Amino acid sequence: MIEVHNLVGGKFVKLQETFDDVSPLNDEIIATVPRTKDVDDAVIAAESALDSWSKLTLIERCDWLDKIADELENQIDEVARLESLDTGKPQEVALNVDASRSVYNFRFFADFGRKMTSQTFEMEDAMNFVMRKPVGIVGLISPWNLPLYLLSWKVAPALLMGNTIIAKPSELTPLTAYFLGQVSVKVGLPDGVLNIVQGYGPEVGHAIVEHPKIKAISFTGGTSTGKIVAATAAPMFKKISLELGGKNAAIVMDDADLNLAVPGVVRSSFLNSGQICLCGSRVLIHDSIYDDFMKAYLQQVRDFKIGPVISNQHLEKVLSYIKLAKDEGGEILFGGSAIDKPGAWIQPTVVGNISHMSRTATEEIFGPVVTVHRFKTEAEAISIANCTEYGLSGSVWSKSRGKEIAEKLESGVIWVNTWLHRDLRTPFGGVKNSGVGREGGQWSVDFFSEFSNICVKND
Ligand code: NAD
Repeated sequence: MIEVHNLVGGKFVKLQETFDDVSPLNDEIIATVPRTKDVDDAVIAAESALDSWSKLTLIERCDWLDKIADELENQIDEVARLESLDTGKPQEVALNVDASRSVYNFRFFADFGRKMTSQTFEMEDAMNFVMRKPVGIVGLISPWNLPLYLLSWKVAPALLMGNTIIAKPSELTPLTAYFLGQVSVKVGLPDGVLNIVQGYGPEVGHAIVEHPKIKAISFTGGTSTGKIVAATAAPMFKKISLELGGKNAAIVMDDADLNLAVPGVVRSSFLNSGQICLCGSRVLIHDSIYDDFMKAYLQQVRDFKIGPVISNQHLEKVLSYIKLAKDEGGEILFGGSAIDKPGAWIQPTVVGNISHMSRTATEEIFGPVVTVHRFKTEAEAISIANCTEYGLSGSVWSKSRGKEIAEKLESGVIWVNTWLHRDLRTPFGGVKNSGVGREGGQWSVDFFSEFSNICVKND
């Protein structure tokens, strides 16, 4: 049993009130977690660390990011073990997706920082110098599906730009954030620069968002939570970045290379049990290849290894959507049931013969459930892909038309003949109800910077 503590001002703080962390692998209690309700101490710690942290040079902070990356990498198997225990994902997914990317997030922003240059704009009679300053104390709130991967994606650029942090992981997956805290203490990161508080969203999450001294909120989570975060933060004119839900389409054109498209779409449907915001939960298939595609797709779905979903409560939500799919006239082409063993296990599920406008096909389920739809023309595929309130990502599988189709999709991130192929320099984020703002390379460092332009008149 792990006892998780908050990290405040470089010290691990034990709270009286705790709750249990339950593994979705087998329903066992794996940790006790502090139920934090206010962030006043964390804010005091972050405030007192801000001046000296922000005065380090960019290169010195890059070195700190590398130290964290080195130590996480030394213990990469432990990161993967904790992530797998907490989320139930297979160990190899936890290692190859979560743990590796968490290390790389720190490494990437260290390298990015070393290459940053300052901007100037010359006029005939003056010179403009663009100064970057930290925003101040920033609040980072992350979800349970890729716990350390998504938290470190915010922590690294926030540290790089000289901010001090109050971070809150999901209450369902506290372990790797706690581990990151231990790593930061081990490498000697100055006290108060990174504070990690654990607890429930409407309690400690809300306390972060509404605290007047926290100047920016970077949030990744569901669209309905994003609305609450935005409504709370906006009257204080905080900077906000919202990475929210999705209902992404994978479009398989008649000229798709099926040797590529079938395994690619299976992976995009079910990696991490479909619990990645970028997963393609709607598969749109050209009528002329529908039968060939589906035969191979269903065969490969059968062999695709998935873990449980995150919790029994989430399992109930996913099962309720499978029932809804049947009520809406859908046909279960594969799976459809919970697996009868301890933990939150469910079969990968494919629903056919259902309207693309049904609730099943337009609401985010965030589990191993996809709907499949036929289309006859490119225009029809694009119109189906764009018909939801979301606009996070998408994929197009075509030998000749991929980029043209991608340009017509209302999504922030679109892949052609691939999926989850990430260059961390590129803008990442959603349109419509999938979010506000972008993360990645320049976009992340801009979010975690405040700018002053100094215009100096020539003599
Ligand atoms: P969630 O919105 O329930 O929780 C996300 C985080 O917000 C958690 O840490 C939670 O404790 C906290 N929170 C909850 N209520 C809060 C409040 N009132 N104030 C402040 N914080 C609060 O989401 P989840 O169930 O953890 O994650 C799944 C969702 O995240 C899905 O919708 C998924 O699409 C989305 N997601 C989006 C991206 C992206 O990059 N766009 C990435 C991963 C997940």
